[in-house]
Amino acid sequence: MISQNMHSAIDNLFDTISSEPPHGRCFKCGSKMMHLDATFFSPGPSGKIWTVPLPVCPKCDLKNDTAKFVLPVAR
Ligand SMILES: [Zn+2]
Repeated sequence: MISQNMHSAIDNLFDTISSEPPHGRCFKCGSKMMHLDATFFSPGPSGKIWTVPLPVCPKCDLKNDTAKFVLPVAR
């Protein structure tokens, strides 16, 4: 059984997350981040719903297979 305090903590957590501005750039490569909206539902009696923009780097997180096409060092 989850206590009422736990529900309040979760509510506060998502209130904080959803109110923070999205990150602008990838900390690994500096690319401009894309944002995918993720929806969370509160498990508590409040029944709140949050939409949190999750930052996604098009280079680091959406890797494709271009690396395999990099030419080997010329002999
Ligand atoms: Zn990146």
